[in-house]
Amino acid sequence: MAGASEDVHPQKAFGWAARDSSGVLSPFNFSRRATGEQDVTFKVLYVGICHSDLHYIKNEWGSSDFISANYPAVPGHEIVGVVTEVGMKVQKFKVGYKVGVGCMVGSCRSCDNCGKNLENYCPKMLLTYGSTYYDGTNTYGGYSDIMVVDEHFAVHIPENMALDATAPLLCAGITVYSPLRYYGLDKPGLHVGVVGLGGLGHMAVKFAKALGTKVTVISTSANKKDEAVKRLGADFFLVSRDPEQMQAATGTLDGIIDTVSAPHPLLPLISLLKTEGKLITVGAPDKPLELPVFPLIMGRKMVGGSGIGGMMETQEMIDFAAKHDIKADIEVIPMDYVNTAMERLHKADVSYRFVIDIGNTLKAT
Ligand SMILES: [Zn+2]
Ligand SMILES: [Zn+2]
Repeated sequence: MAGASEDVHPQKAFGWAARDSSGVLSPFNFSRRATGEQDVTFKVLYVGICHSDLHYIKNEWGSSDFISANYPAVPGHEIVGVVTEVGMKVQKFKVGYKVGVGCMVGSCRSCDNCGKNLENYCPKMLLTYGSTYYDGTNTYGGYSDIMVVDEHFAVHIPENMALDATAPLLCAGITVYSPLRYYGLDKPGLHVGVVGLGGLGHMAVKFAKALGTKVTVISTSANKKDEAVKRLGADFFLVSRDPEQMQAATGTLDGIIDTVSAPHPLLPLISLLKTEGKLITVGAPDKPLELPVFPLIMGRKMVGGSGIGGMMETQEMIDFAAKHDIKADIEVIPMDYVNTAMERLHKADVSYRFVIDIGNTLKAT
């Protein structure tokens, strides 16, 4: 595979890669392109472990048209670091600036979506890992010592933000912030439900609260109630397996951010919506969900989707998080713990995001 070799590009890079669908990660020497006129090169300090990373290294989306793994596969798309070199035409960054990169590193910059700052919906959007870059080489993610990125696809991280707890905002944060904004679930007085309390869900609670809405967490496990209400600041908690609780909450929510990626019934969630309520899915179930239409018709309700956000909105989300002191809840791990972390993530045994301390623990071999 082009790009797998150490010698394709001038900048030596080192990271951890999966070599096959076992998904086991191990040290990997490769290279990155020279810093182009509009590129920034940065030293990676922290990278979050997104559930997508796990799917990707095991090639679990290989049969779908979403993304299939190119091995060696270097995952990581919640990346923060410090700029070490800037190209001649770079405007936004200087050496020493804190920088973040999320799920994408390129788009056509000329289609309707790109024109509307919706690079995330560009048909030619390039993912941070697993895409083929314009030069024909694979894109490699942030489980590595350095990154090179077009400045358009990098955001500023304000100095007052903790870099480790900010990394997950680049995917999990924008994934929930964008639909709260776009679907108008961002105003005081509204009541928003958040389904699933994981990496995405805990961010949704924090952003929805900071936007001034009332928040109800909906979860299958009753034992998450204290966590949701006392620690994360949700106003109410519903156990989705308790028909009485669900019944009592019928018609109370203006909108729902559904973060669950496993198959689950939509009818109980649609029932929680007020008239004209919106059920927004941001989890990515690999099989179709059954959509009951009658309850939508009888209340002009809608079911929508949303995927990350454009670059302008990603910067807005970061600035909003800085202003409201929003961080992800993280467990910082060393690089050589990553395979154990993946096993634990698979069992949902993390509150709520692993973040790899690349800067201090990634050692070249
Ligand atoms: Zn992600
Ligand atoms: Zn485009």
